[in-house]
Amino acid sequence: MNRQSPSSFGRAPAAWTSSKPPLLRFLSACHADFAPEDSGAVADYIPELGKADPAHFGISLATLDGHVYEVGDTQVPFTIQSMSKPFVFALALDTLGAARVESVIGVEPSGDPFNSIRLNAENHPFNPMVNAGAIACSGLIQQARGDGAFEYIRQSLGKFAGRELDVDDAVYVSESATGDRNRAIGYLLRTNAVLTDRVDAVLDVYFRQCAILVTARDIAIMAATLANRGVNPVTGEQVMTPYAIARTLSVMTSSGMYDYAGEWIYRIGIPAKSGVGGGILAALPARLGLGSYSPKLDKHGNSVRGIKVCEALSSHYDLHMLNRSDDARNSIIADYDIGNSPSRRVRRAQEQNILAEHHQAVRIIELVGTLSFSNVDYVSRQLATKPRPQLVIFDLRRVTAMTRAGARLLAEEFHELAAYNVTVILSGIKRASADWKMISEWTEGLTNIRNYYLLDDAIEWAEDQVVYRHGGAIDFFEATALSEQSLLAGLTDEELTDMASLATIRTYEASEKILATGDPADSLFFLRSGVVHVTLPDGIRLATLTAGMPFGEMALLEPRRSADVIADMAATAYEIPLRDFERFRKQHPRAGERIMRNLAQLLADRLILANAKVNLLTSS
Ligand code: GLN
Repeated sequence: MNRQSPSSFGRAPAAWTSSKPPLLRFLSACHADFAPEDSGAVADYIPELGKADPAHFGISLATLDGHVYEVGDTQVPFTIQSMSKPFVFALALDTLGAARVESVIGVEPSGDPFNSIRLNAENHPFNPMVNAGAIACSGLIQQARGDGAFEYIRQSLGKFAGRELDVDDAVYVSESATGDRNRAIGYLLRTNAVLTDRVDAVLDVYFRQCAILVTARDIAIMAATLANRGVNPVTGEQVMTPYAIARTLSVMTSSGMYDYAGEWIYRIGIPAKSGVGGGILAALPARLGLGSYSPKLDKHGNSVRGIKVCEALSSHYDLHMLNRSDDARNSIIADYDIGNSPSRRVRRAQEQNILAEHHQAVRIIELVGTLSFSNVDYVSRQLATKPRPQLVIFDLRRVTAMTRAGARLLAEEFHELAAYNVTVILSGIKRASADWKMISEWTEGLTNIRNYYLLDDAIEWAEDQVVYRHGGAIDFFEATALSEQSLLAGLTDEELTDMASLATIRTYEASEKILATGDPADSLFFLRSGVVHVTLPDGIRLATLTAGMPFGEMALLEPRRSADVIADMAATAYEIPLRDFERFRKQHPRAGERIMRNLAQLLADRLILANAKVNLLTSS
């Protein structure tokens, strides 16, 4: 185990009372190990802060799927203090625009303590994480929102936390009564035109924002929102733009821990911010948010136990943000052509032959997880490893996220494919989705892209294209005779004539429901013209049938219909009552046996196809 792991982690517990997720067990071990740590001192330059209970210790960790782990005093409220700075900076960026904010506040680390009264060479604050920069930020919000500035800040921080946040009036009054050093900074900013007027009003906003009450749990969720590109993982709300969030994390990385910032990012490698109230907030992009509360501070003004928790977390799980790699190859879950997995449309012999010969013409790539820069690059190189298909289907139904880089590369791949006249078909993505909007932004004007929600529809359409392109166009309206029915293959002319005398020709309109699940199964059908599909009541499409195929044939085995059959277009069918069919079998035992064998073959083919589809997913 690593030097910085808490010693009680991994020690066998005396008894297993209830099972705990390992991460919660780890945080509990941290809590147990660092609780005895007694060094540091509670901040008392703001008199009211001096009243904090030094024993309080809470650790909370929020994951990006919105789970919150909590150990110890995670529900004890304390004032946010400097941990408000990153959020108000993000708010200023989104409210006033980056250009305005950057014109008065720098982004260089100062190497100074948080309360340093020093500006950079341009007489601007070094960065928004030290008091001078934070006061300038509050000034910008004050300019934009006037008297509503503080309320605007409080509401906005509440969105990060996912709940309405209160203010500790005693702490506010206490800091307001004693905060002359911050007033000095305010006047310095005014002589340098960073603040334009009303220094007192700006400091009032700043003191109030520092006195906002939070818990370790709140801080964890606020941090997780930063780690999640501004989407609160608990409420799902996009609180700030990804742009503002990325810039905020940047200044947290370089200056969040004041004159300990370089050391912090070197050793721990997680963007963080501390507050003199005893809180530490750490946001590991794309992974987690951590909030800790313990009031005793070191000489830099950072919580002693909080630092230990961050160190242990980073080192035990090796979470340094610059120590990362990603396997680009895990985004393809299946890669095949229509030879391995045709659509569920049952094809006639002529079509089958064309598709068998040209199976490589349709390539299907099923993707999973996040489509990032490296994943999409890998996919585009995989595409080039086989002969160029005429159509490519990208199935995105298991894609949970797409980065901008991923979407951009994907769009560029579509341009590349267009240049070679390859048709791109997307399935599993809704046209209304944000991912689709992002892709279409970069594929405007491309005509080779189609979109189907269901993968099977996409495959079916692609197969049709291959059939058409190779001269297999089919007249769906042309009526077929019973002799062309696959189930009746091998019957003599006489047997077929007898069978025909039992059949009634039915006609259906497009979308008409021909059979309904649960109805008595007392006849069989042979599709004579048109197209029908077989679906389960929940909408799952089992098969698309064209003329020459039977349906409702399961009546030979089951007393009730097990699926719906719906006409895709105007269709006609031969219907034969089961009673008559049974009589026919008695009169023509040879033909009866032949039909049952054909049926067994049909069912076996379906099973083989279904297994192949399952294999494609489990073997890759
Ligand atoms: N309100 C405090 C101050 O300005 C915030 C400082 C901090 O948390 N580091 O002094």
